[in-house]
Amino acid sequence: MGTLYEEIVAYGGEVFGEEHMETLLQCVQCGKCTGGCPSGRNTALRTRKLFRMAQEDMREEIFNAPELWFCTTCFTCYERCPKGVKTTDVIRIIRNLAAKEGHMSVPHRMIGVYVLKTGHAVPIGPDQMKIRESLGLDSQPPTTQKYKEQLEQVQDIFRTTQFDAMIDFDWDKMDLRGKEGGEKK
Ligand code: SF4
Ligand code: SF4
Repeated sequence: MGTLYEEIVAYGGEVFGEEHMETLLQCVQCGKCTGGCPSGRNTALRTRKLFRMAQEDMREEIFNAPELWFCTTCFTCYERCPKGVKTTDVIRIIRNLAAKEGHMSVPHRMIGVYVLKTGHAVPIGPDQMKIRESLGLDSQPPTTQKYKEQLEQVQDIFRTTQFDAMIDFDWDKMDLRGKEGGEKK
């Protein structure tokens, strides 16, 4: 295994191209990203610090940092960086690498559960159904939520890609394993 930076370039390079990911080394710690981060105003997320940790090969620390998952991928830092660091994409690739090793926040794993159980990352609930009806729409959109027999195909994708294992999904309970026990972040 190489350094975290090398992994970011190799893995992210397959998606974005290596040059895109290599911009991580251009970070000069100016802090414009952190200064404009809407999430960082309310959370422990310090974008600049994440990049420093990545440059310094602080693999375990960054993979175990809860704030890695606080980025909302709003791309504000991406627009603001004076050095052209592809910030948000770097964060997304670090998350992917972390997730592959079993580090994924419970809220992100739960989004997988919603998709697996309903086909929607944000399932439509009774309130939304009422609003739809008040607008003259069917209470359910024409998706897996209405056509539940199609949900099996969504679940097949989870099995084929092994995303069910990545989020540690228990098919018997139809829920996450260890969620209550807090074994996994
Ligand atoms: S704005 Fe760009 S150069 Fe400045 S700290 Fe953030 S990533 Fe680094
Ligand atoms: S993309 Fe993420 S890190 Fe960047 S400003 Fe938005 S929330 Fe903050």
